[in-house]
Amino acid sequence: MKDYKSLIQQYELDVYPRRDVVLVKGKNSTVWDEQGKEYIDLASGISVANIGHCNDKVIEAITKQASTLITCANTFYNDAKAIFLEKLFSITPKNLTHAFLTNSGTEAMEAAIKFARAITNQPDRSASLSQKRNEQAGKTNFVSAMKGFHGRTFGALSATYKKEYRENFEPLVPGFSFVPFNNFEKLAEAVDDRTAGIILELVQGEGGINIGQKEYFQQVRQLCNEKGIMLIIDEIQTGFCRAGTMFAIEQFGIEADMITVAKSIAGGFPMGALLCSDKIQIEKGKHGSTFGGNPLACAAGTASIEFMVENKLWEQAEAKGKYFKEKLSAFQLSKVRDIRVIGLMIGIELKDKAQPVIVELLEKGILSLPAGTTVLRLLPPLTISYEELDKAVTVLAEVLS
Ligand SMILES: *Cc1c(COP(=O)(O)O)cnc(C)c1O
Repeated sequence: MKDYKSLIQQYELDVYPRRDVVLVKGKNSTVWDEQGKEYIDLASGISVANIGHCNDKVIEAITKQASTLITCANTFYNDAKAIFLEKLFSITPKNLTHAFLTNSGTEAMEAAIKFARAITNQPDRSASLSQKRNEQAGKTNFVSAMKGFHGRTFGALSATYKKEYRENFEPLVPGFSFVPFNNFEKLAEAVDDRTAGIILELVQGEGGINIGQKEYFQQVRQLCNEKGIMLIIDEIQTGFCRAGTMFAIEQFGIEADMITVAKSIAGGFPMGALLCSDKIQIEKGKHGSTFGGNPLACAAGTASIEFMVENKLWEQAEAKGKYFKEKLSAFQLSKVRDIRVIGLMIGIELKDKAQPVIVELLEKGILSLPAGTTVLRLLPPLTISYEELDKAVTVLAEVLS
């Protein structure tokens, strides 16, 4: 057997804090390492495997599409894409009418940022350049939340709060500012005539499973209406049943002008999308992608969404999240400060650092995630069995007591 670990250490840039395991196989909520040791996956590859690892429907769809057409330029029409878009818009919020398809979450954010500027910062073509700068500067700025996470490319990173992600790469895109999450007053103060968009998660994932307040988001929507600001909601982590509804926004009673999705959209196949209302218009040739919406991704996406709908996966997420919280809360957990749950999105706030707990869980056969320094984040496949949840709770109770 090759030494996979050494090869990766030798050749891959060392940007990821690594766990000392080589994963080689997965099925539903179980993954295996190279020695055949079994793990319960409470991370889903960071909320990607919502429908489980190697879902049969997705295997079948990818296999079939792979022997038919793997790539197709976006300048051509394609059957797999047409079928995917129809399926996607059968489940998305009704005010959203169009999509721009990408390969990742951060690319969907880039599209959102560019499109918001494009419609709020329309150049007056008759004005001279200097006049335009002085009088028609338009709206180019964005406000997002402290502890928010939106991705690693320059636009998305500019909307991302965490200092460690930003430093070394500055200057970032100008015009971005940050306000505390769930604080409408501070947001209203930060907005002015130059604000093109407000970018928010409904539940901050990376930031620690901080759940947005419905009233806050309704006030934000109102403000956006009054000031002609685009409301950009990042559902890259909360989307596709994770938060207990197909999209988390359904629980907030608002409409977004744009929603970004990715992660679990295509059963683990890399894909993302910007979904937008018909307020958003963009001229031909102004944006594009070589791979975005390629036939393999679309086939996987169609199969994945079909599986979610057929199995009412949002109901499973809701029920399993409640079950998990109840079971775990029954124990005396001396290391735990707070447990936050929405759907099957679980944040366990610890009194101390999360990293040692994650390592201990790994040794005991459980994959988990951090969110910030002190929050243990659990995002199991929504298809996880109750037996596996019970097993996970037993181990967690042991480690957290
Ligand atoms: C993961 C994530 C992103 C970035 O997605 P990538 O596919 O890694 O580029 C953006 N926003 C949120 C909320 C995420 O969870």
